[in-house]
Amino acid sequence: MSRIREVSRVILSQVASDGAGVKLRRSIGGSQIADLDPFLLLDNFGTENPDEYIAGFPWHPHRGFETVTYMIDGLMRHKDSMGSEGVLGPGSVQWMTAGHGIIHSEMPEQEEGRMSGFQLWVNLPAKDKMCAPRYQNIDPENVPSVKLDGVDLRIIAGSVEGPDGVVSGPVTGVATDPVYLDVTLAPGGSFEHAIPEGHTAFVYVFDGTVAVSGKEVEQHHLAILSDGNHVRLTSDKGGRAILVAGRPLGEPVARYGPFVMNTPAEIQKAVRDFQTGNFLMH
Ligand code: FE
Repeated sequence: MSRIREVSRVILSQVASDGAGVKLRRSIGGSQIADLDPFLLLDNFGTENPDEYIAGFPWHPHRGFETVTYMIDGLMRHKDSMGSEGVLGPGSVQWMTAGHGIIHSEMPEQEEGRMSGFQLWVNLPAKDKMCAPRYQNIDPENVPSVKLDGVDLRIIAGSVEGPDGVVSGPVTGVATDPVYLDVTLAPGGSFEHAIPEGHTAFVYVFDGTVAVSGKEVEQHHLAILSDGNHVRLTSDKGGRAILVAGRPLGEPVARYGPFVMNTPAEIQKAVRDFQTGNFLMH
């Protein structure tokens, strides 16, 4: 049975700063909505002003969840405690499963020009929180795109029915079975997408205006979707949004800064492990 997902709530993202002073817009994980199971945080960074990004995100730890960086504009160099290093450029994705612990930095590889993109935090189920850290680094050319009438899609996770068959995103093996699409609508463009019933789903509009199942959602707004099995995105004047979905975990969330566990005791252990230099050992 066809059941469209309506917009159940719209949230205007709030201007915030994180790292060493990177200006961004936070919609999930801030004062308005603490989390949206399984999503813990959504930040949209985007500025032309180097003063608002140049300090970057110096060395910091993560434990118990996944951080997903999707670059739209600009260059960011990442380094981590596993010895990986690389530059994320426009259109690239880094899906990092922090597991029991990783320490990393993300610093601008540019001194001028626009820097923009997204950081999404995806929770891990209790059984995976202390897993070995894992990276999926995906270069822009390995993020498949699909062109439909008036719609350009980039598929980071999940599958889309394209004119030449089903196209699947490169991110695999994630516990929450995520969907992550970048949807650009030309004026008059329209796109329908199936989303598994029971998945938490949202649309974040970062350019123009997008109607989500008939409701107009403006730039910098997050639209949380009701349950159902598909969503429809349209735009009169053109717009661009990310469409993200994932299976909720339904587990308790204990959270302190960059650590997200199930119980306060596990958080205390994470802090202790970090302070005593035992963080990277399992
Ligand atoms: Fe980080």
